[in-house]
Amino acid sequence: MYNPASPHAEAFVHHDEILDTLQYAEENKKNASLIDGILRKARERGGLNHREAAVLLACALPAQNEEILALAKQIKEGFYGRRIVLFAPLYLSNYCVNSCVYCPYHLQNRQIPRKKLTQEEIAREVTALQDMGHKRLALEAGEDPVHNPIEYILESVDTIYHVRHTNGAVRRVNVNIAATSIENYQKLRDAEIGTYILFQETYHRESYEALHPTGPKHDYCWHTEAMDRAMRGGIGDVGLGVLFGLERYKYEFAGLLMHAEHLEAVFGVGPHTISVPRIKRADDIDPAAFSNGIDDETFAKLIACIRLSVPYTGMIISTREGIQMRARALELGVSQISGASRTSVGGYEEEEHDTEQFEVSDNRTLDEVVRWLMELGYIPSFCTACYREGRTGDRFMQLLKSGQIQNCCQPNALMTLQEFLQDYASQPARAIGEQLIARELHVIPNEKMRGVTQRHLARILAGERDFRV
Ligand code: SF4
Repeated sequence: MYNPASPHAEAFVHHDEILDTLQYAEENKKNASLIDGILRKARERGGLNHREAAVLLACALPAQNEEILALAKQIKEGFYGRRIVLFAPLYLSNYCVNSCVYCPYHLQNRQIPRKKLTQEEIAREVTALQDMGHKRLALEAGEDPVHNPIEYILESVDTIYHVRHTNGAVRRVNVNIAATSIENYQKLRDAEIGTYILFQETYHRESYEALHPTGPKHDYCWHTEAMDRAMRGGIGDVGLGVLFGLERYKYEFAGLLMHAEHLEAVFGVGPHTISVPRIKRADDIDPAAFSNGIDDETFAKLIACIRLSVPYTGMIISTREGIQMRARALELGVSQISGASRTSVGGYEEEEHDTEQFEVSDNRTLDEVVRWLMELGYIPSFCTACYREGRTGDRFMQLLKSGQIQNCCQPNALMTLQEFLQDYASQPARAIGEQLIARELHVIPNEKMRGVTQRHLARILAGERDFRV
């Protein structure tokens, strides 16, 4: 039976409840009064449950579909302003004992070179990332208890936090590794990681088992209950995601929201982020082999519906998507993007990218991405202050839901942008950025906060760094 508070994956992501939800959504896709009522609720910015959200996703009324997109834009701006957080992935190792059929690192792929970075190589990768201006990384590694044990991950996190090149410093390391034990999550917490990210890939159990035929990842419940163990292990911020294209997107959407409802019901706090990757070409992987791919219009609506359903959850889009889709996603709900990503092991140092996990669709430099964001009217942010100030988990969510987070985010975004402009930006990017900072400084509503920000900006210009941002 469906029970969002159950510790069992099959009860909180309940197959029959998803099927009922999809049927209910299909039956009501032209029910204008029901849909208008759901939109009224969404306008209050308190989120939607999975049934309501599924009706919006299925909605077949043009005027209401326009309203869904318009409202997503309003809510996005209401919670996040014009700030966009930037990060980069860092691939440590592509050794993997799993057999995920959509990933080139799967065990049966004998043609891909296997690589694992040493601590010295990690330090060089991090130096290259710092020299671009990155402050926030997402660490990636395949599942392999021999090559990539938890001790290797912990040592790597420690190495990353200790690299200091000129004014560079990685201030937040998010970790995307396989589902593990509570004990290992406690070790990751003690290593001061930021968000623990684990993509569900698909919530459909039968498909999940077929797509992961062997290896520890085959165990659907172990994988789906990983966030519960992570939160019990003391990790406050967890990031969910589905690999769209593996299963029917409406099924995944309902499963994803039920997972978020479960975390809220049990821990009082939903996911910190939701990622929306779509399947991409890679060595040994042809996206055409997967029949559930979604077009750009559907993808945009999906992003908008997630935004209305969990307005307080950050949304992430990677360089799997090209420039146009990324721009659209930013409008509709995405709050974090990767920039200048290399999706191969050692990719920031080496010319060879023969271990790519997926083909990148946005190949611009970080400077170009920052400039592009500013030209679109966004404020690129390298801020990591919440994590550094202990504003994680339910503390972060309370501040976000109450709107108080705005008092920290806008000044911090401007300060970290100023750091970037001064230390790493090209002249054209700097010129645009300085105008943007001057303009945005004056719209900080709180006079005291404006004064503090001005003083910090002056200190950054004088060469000081690290104001706990
Ligand atoms: S998705 Fe992860 S677990 Fe699966 S093969 Fe790729 S690296 Fe391994």
